[in-house]
Amino acid sequence: MSYYYLLAAILGLCFGSFANVVIIRMGKEESIVFPASHCPNCKHALKWYHNIPVLSFIVLRGKCGFCGQKISVIYPIIEIFVSLLFCAAVYKLGATYFTIFAALTLFSLLCLAVIDFQTLMAPDSLNFLALFFALLSSGAILDNLSAAFLIAGGLSLLRMGLSSLLKKEAMGEADVILGATMGAFLGLTGALIALFIGALSAIIPALINRKNARLETPFIPFLAFGTLIVFIFGNELKSLLGWQ
Ligand SMILES: [Zn+2]
Repeated sequence: MSYYYLLAAILGLCFGSFANVVIIRMGKEESIVFPASHCPNCKHALKWYHNIPVLSFIVLRGKCGFCGQKISVIYPIIEIFVSLLFCAAVYKLGATYFTIFAALTLFSLLCLAVIDFQTLMAPDSLNFLALFFALLSSGAILDNLSAAFLIAGGLSLLRMGLSSLLKKEAMGEADVILGATMGAFLGLTGALIALFIGALSAIIPALINRKNARLETPFIPFLAFGTLIVFIFGNELKSLLGWQ
């Protein structure tokens, strides 16, 4: 079993490195594949040994190997975080095919959360990819599908109701798609708990943003946070609530 954790940790680091590319390029609506990784400052194409997750950052002491421009510490942090997400998937699901899709769901959610945080937008392609992975993250695909529809339907109704009540657009379409992913990934009760945790954790940042006249608070990071909490502690939370 420890072999699978090692595998998940290493794959997670590699996917974390890929997550950095996805976050930067999708946030700017650039191609993910071309051009090859390059320094944003001197535009020098990176050598393979500049691209080793975490290690390269340490060896280069957080600077570009060509021009010495500082590299943000966010990059290795995201690499380590995705590595931990992959290990969490193995911890919860063991070594199965579904573990791969659960890990990919968590990977997509992290990318979506960071992109939404930085740009207040979530690319539809990545959002639907997350839903696709979530639908395959357990053997009960039909159950996953129906939970996805129920949550998405409920959120759409809520969105229409709130929008007409507030006379402005409440919640984005991206939040509804993410809700479907949460339903597929966590099941109906799990998704409801995750939505609740997400909404609750978003209240204070939303109030602070309103005070500082920032127009919108990105919601996806909070929904992704709720999803991760329920993915890991779902059984404990459900029995706490007497729901199982
Ligand atoms: Zn450089």
